[in-house]
Amino acid sequence: MDPPGDVGRPHLSRRAKRETLTGMPRFTNSLHARYDVCEAFFTATVLKGQALHSPSPAERTSILVSDFDGTMTRHDFYLLAIEHLIPRDCPDYWLEYRQGRMTHFEALQAYFRTITASEAGVLAVVDQMELDPRLPRALADLQSAGWTVVVTSAGCDWYIKYLLAQAGVSLEVFANPGEFIAGQGLRMSLPSDARFRSPTIGVDKAGVVAHWLDQGCRVAFAGDGFPDADAARRVDDPLRFAKADLAEQLQQEQLSFHRFSVWSEIADHLLDASSR
Ligand SMILES: [Mg+2]
Repeated sequence: MDPPGDVGRPHLSRRAKRETLTGMPRFTNSLHARYDVCEAFFTATVLKGQALHSPSPAERTSILVSDFDGTMTRHDFYLLAIEHLIPRDCPDYWLEYRQGRMTHFEALQAYFRTITASEAGVLAVVDQMELDPRLPRALADLQSAGWTVVVTSAGCDWYIKYLLAQAGVSLEVFANPGEFIAGQGLRMSLPSDARFRSPTIGVDKAGVVAHWLDQGCRVAFAGDGFPDADAARRVDDPLRFAKADLAEQLQQEQLSFHRFSVWSEIADHLLDASSR
């Protein structure tokens, strides 16, 4: 039974009552709900030291989901790790993965566990990944045009967040959580958030893309590897960006895409397309 104060008022759902009580906006159609979600995500992405642009609601529906290793950077961390940090007598975990005896996640986890270098030594190798130097400027330009950029990676958030912080930017990152423990290497685990967890690569990149598509957002995707293929297939042709193995895979499937060599070219393309 409704409390006395509600007598004569139209029926409100439990959620609507909660929003009314808390002063939160109550959205009555899916279009507004979609802006609500996209806006919340937009505000989670902040360029340090720069004022946030306040785009119109229509501008807030554009999300660029990007891979990290080999996409935002020139080199993959795991390849640099094998070259500089992994003991020479380490088993060939990558072969185990390619032959189906380990998952992608298990192979990376096993490699990272063998690292015995100091944290400073590992970070020196992380620096060799070469994050696109134009990234901060490109992110600011994209943000001004209403694009929100999120990172999805089958790698480890420990080095991703380090490199982004070094560049002075902070982005929402969906990657496998990890911590460096001296003497125990880089300890990587599966994401605790079950919504975007993949048992094989850790982070369900296609699930991240699907989540924003389901909210009605315009979603672009950029990647360079086979683990990016499912996510890339989900976006519209003009919003698909690829290089290296992913480009080869998409070509085989006769799916169209824009080829890029460095990440900021993606930003240039999206900004050109929005200004036309
Ligand atoms: Mg990659």
